[in-house]
Amino acid sequence: MHDRGYYEEFGGAFIPEVLHATFDELEEAFRDARHDPRFWQDYETLMSTYSCRPTPLTYAENLTEHFGGARIYVKREDLNHTGAHKANNVMGQGLLVKRMGKKRVIAETGAGQHGVATATMAAKFGFDCTIYMGEVDVERQRPNVFWMERLGAQVIPVREGTRILKDAINEAFRDWVTHMETTHYVLGTACGPHPFPEMVSYFQSIVGQEAREQILEREGRLPARVYACVGGGSNALGIFHGFMNDGVELVGVEAGGKGIQSGLHASRLSSPDASVGVAQGYKTYFLQDGDGQMRETHSVAAGLDYVGVSPILAALKHRGRVRFEAATDEEVVQALALTVRKEGLIPALESAHAFVQAFKEAPLLSSRDIVLINQSGRGDKDIFTIADAFGDPKWQKFIMDKGEKYRA
Ligand SMILES: *Cc1c(COP(=O)(O)O)cnc(C)c1O
Repeated sequence: MHDRGYYEEFGGAFIPEVLHATFDELEEAFRDARHDPRFWQDYETLMSTYSCRPTPLTYAENLTEHFGGARIYVKREDLNHTGAHKANNVMGQGLLVKRMGKKRVIAETGAGQHGVATATMAAKFGFDCTIYMGEVDVERQRPNVFWMERLGAQVIPVREGTRILKDAINEAFRDWVTHMETTHYVLGTACGPHPFPEMVSYFQSIVGQEAREQILEREGRLPARVYACVGGGSNALGIFHGFMNDGVELVGVEAGGKGIQSGLHASRLSSPDASVGVAQGYKTYFLQDGDGQMRETHSVAAGLDYVGVSPILAALKHRGRVRFEAATDEEVVQALALTVRKEGLIPALESAHAFVQAFKEAPLLSSRDIVLINQSGRGDKDIFTIADAFGDPKWQKFIMDKGEKYRA
C-alpha cells in the first residue's frame, strides 16, 4: 500500500536535512522491534500489568433497546491508565526508546492528554521529559498541566505564532534537531513524517485485534459497522485495523463543531473545506486557505481540533474503504447525556462523536446486525466543558465559591 511512508499520494517525510539520520535510526529501530516477536509480547505484558489491557467489550443493552435496531457494542479504551487509547501509543514508544538506549523524551500536546500520557510513561521508565504546549493551551488546560508537572515533566509554554498545538509541534521539532543523540520525540497521533503514522497505528492496532476476537467470541460474527472519532486518526486506525480485510463498514467521525456551514469545525475528510498540502513534515488534507495558511478550527472536544489528519486515513478515504461523517457540538453533548443516563458510561467528548453517528444509523439496521463503537477515552476529564455545556447552575456556584476562597 505504501512505499517508504507513502499511502497513495499521502504521507512522506518532509524533514530538514539535519534530522535525516535520526529518522533513519528511528525507522530501523522500529523495523527491528517489529520483527522481534518478543517486542510485541513485552508490549502486551506491559499493557496488561500497567494499563488495563485487554480492555473490555461492553454490550450496551439499554441503548440497543432504546434505538430498536442493531445491537450496540462499545470497546472500552476509556479504561486504559490515564483514561484513553493514548496510553497504547506512548507506552509502545517508551519500550522503543528503551531499546534505542535514549534517556530523554519530548512531546507536543494540545489539550494536554498526550502530554499527561507521555509524562506518565516517562515517570514509569525513568526518562527526562519535556512537553511543549501552546501558551493559550497551558492557560486553558490547567488540570493537565498540573499533572504533567507532578509527574516530573517540564512544561514549556510556546509563545510563537498563534500559541496553540501546531506551534508546539514546531517547537518540539526545534528541540529534537539540537538533541537528537539523547532524545526521542513521542508524537501523539498517526500523523507527521514517516515513520510516525505507521508506528503509532502499529501500537494502536492492539485495539482492533482485541475487539475482533472479543466480538467473535461473544456473537460468533463480525459487526456490520465500526465507528470511531477522528482527530489525528490514531484510535480510528487502531480499531479499524481489526476489520480492514472484511466487508465491515468503517466509519470515521470528525468534529462538525458549530456546523459545516459555519466554518467553525475540524472536518478535513468529511467536508469540502480541506485541501491537500504539505505541512508539519507530511502530505495530507489540511484545513488551510488558498495561500497554505492554516485555518482556525473549532470543536467542543479539544482532542479533535487538529488542522491535519493521518495520511493513512486520507488514503483510505480515496480508496473508499472508510466513510467519513461529522458530528456537531450540539449532537455530541446530547449523545453524551443519553449514554451516561442509559448505560452509566461516560465517553470523552471526542469519543461521543462516534456515538452520535452510531445512534443515527443503528435504528436503520436490523436487530441481527451489530455495530461497534470505539470509546476512545473517558469523559470525566471533560467535567469543566461538559458542565458548561449542560449549564448546571450548581456547578457554576461551586466554581465561583472556589474562586472566592482563593481570593480571600
Ligand atoms: C486525543 C484523543 C482523541 C483524538 O486522537 P486520535 O489520534 O484521532 O485518536 C480521541 N479521543 C480521545 C479520548 C483523545 O484523548
